[in-house]
Amino acid sequence: MNITFHGAARNVTGSKHLIRLKDETGILLDCGMFQGMGDQSEDLNEHFGFNPKKVDYMVLSHAHIDHCGLIPRLAAEGYDGPIYCTSATMDLTRILLMDSAHIQMQDVAYDNKHRARKGQPLLEPLYTDEQAMEALRLFKIVEYNQEFEITPQIKLKLTDAGHILGSASVHLAITEDGKTTNITFSGDVGRYDDMLLNDPQPFAQADYILLESTYGDSLHKDIGPIEDTLLEIIKQTCEVKGGKVIIPAFSVGRTQELLYALNALELKGVLPNLHYYVDSPLSEKATEVLMNHPEVYNKQVKEVLKTDANPFGFKGLRFIQSTEESKALNDDPRPCVIISSSGMAEAGRVKHHIKNNINSNKNTILMVGYCEPNSLGGHLLNGDPEVHIFGEMYKVNAEVRSIRSMSAHGDYEDLLHFLACQNPENVKEIYLVHGEYNVQQHFSKTLKENGFKNVEIPYQHQKIELK
Ligand SMILES: [Zn+2]
Repeated sequence: MNITFHGAARNVTGSKHLIRLKDETGILLDCGMFQGMGDQSEDLNEHFGFNPKKVDYMVLSHAHIDHCGLIPRLAAEGYDGPIYCTSATMDLTRILLMDSAHIQMQDVAYDNKHRARKGQPLLEPLYTDEQAMEALRLFKIVEYNQEFEITPQIKLKLTDAGHILGSASVHLAITEDGKTTNITFSGDVGRYDDMLLNDPQPFAQADYILLESTYGDSLHKDIGPIEDTLLEIIKQTCEVKGGKVIIPAFSVGRTQELLYALNALELKGVLPNLHYYVDSPLSEKATEVLMNHPEVYNKQVKEVLKTDANPFGFKGLRFIQSTEESKALNDDPRPCVIISSSGMAEAGRVKHHIKNNINSNKNTILMVGYCEPNSLGGHLLNGDPEVHIFGEMYKVNAEVRSIRSMSAHGDYEDLLHFLACQNPENVKEIYLVHGEYNVQQHFSKTLKENGFKNVEIPYQHQKIELK
């Protein structure tokens, strides 16, 4: 059997790995969209590098768009097999894909207006909302720790990866010529002691491991609990300077963590009396999905639930739905906190909020997650004095802060902890995926120091034979 890495290979988006058995059976792990890579993303999103009609099964690790975002395109190009994932992932993916389809259609409609005027050929969206709906019919639920037989030769088990609601590590036991090979795909691995979720679970001994490596060279070291930093930034910006705090945050995961932290501050009676906006219709839906899946909460959240029926709601919080309301926030001079997507500030309403608030040193842009270096968020985190927004240059006068420990990804100690259930002697090979190349090279050394003999960093479309 072999495996080909069609995405998240020496970068962090477009997760897509195709296992091909001797009898030509194809199993696809994730079908993510490439993001934040400019024109290159477009090209990569339009060409899978394999024939979707020749894929028989798909397993989805979790609902982030860089893992599920091209599923409608896969189906539109002929894939009609099952897509296995947890029920929480299915619920989240549904809202994320519908949202993604709307964005694709809107963007293309906008471009096509200009193209029509210039007499240029019109573009097609990557997929439409109808195609997204069609693809959703392929989803099949496999819950955590259930032994599921895809075929008598292919067995599947999902374990909690602790990364976002419903996220899983994927374990396949594949029997060929009477010999069983165990392949683990980590998916994205969360942190131990996450604010909301359970720890990543241990898993049975694997022969081959596809391991994410986003933070393979760093440790998340923030001083003090997240609530304290958040409170300090809100007080300094809103109460002392009378400004706004703009927080780009993924609609799924990060937004709910922020709400949970703000709620914790309210429970302590220290939350400043301000307006708190979540300006993303998707975030509201994602928060609802989380509330419908209390089975994923860790012990602390379950404890809070005993006294607070809604751990994601507090005084002053408002979810913004319409674009009119979103735009109205620009004209409101009062200090406030705006949580809006996307997390890398590459798209979505938050880009407008940053554009409108970046000029004043009263305001703070607070980064709370991973940003691809070329994304707007990446440039801000890098401390660039000027940034491009919608084709224009803006001076960065607003203060840029970050809370690194809010990453949904584990750091290298978390990743080593994740591997602690394995006997390194018995792991034939680790393939590092979902990381930047220089980070992966660093992490590869760390893994070797920890007894894992063979570590490879596959490049885009590289095919590797599993012996
Ligand atoms: Zn993820």
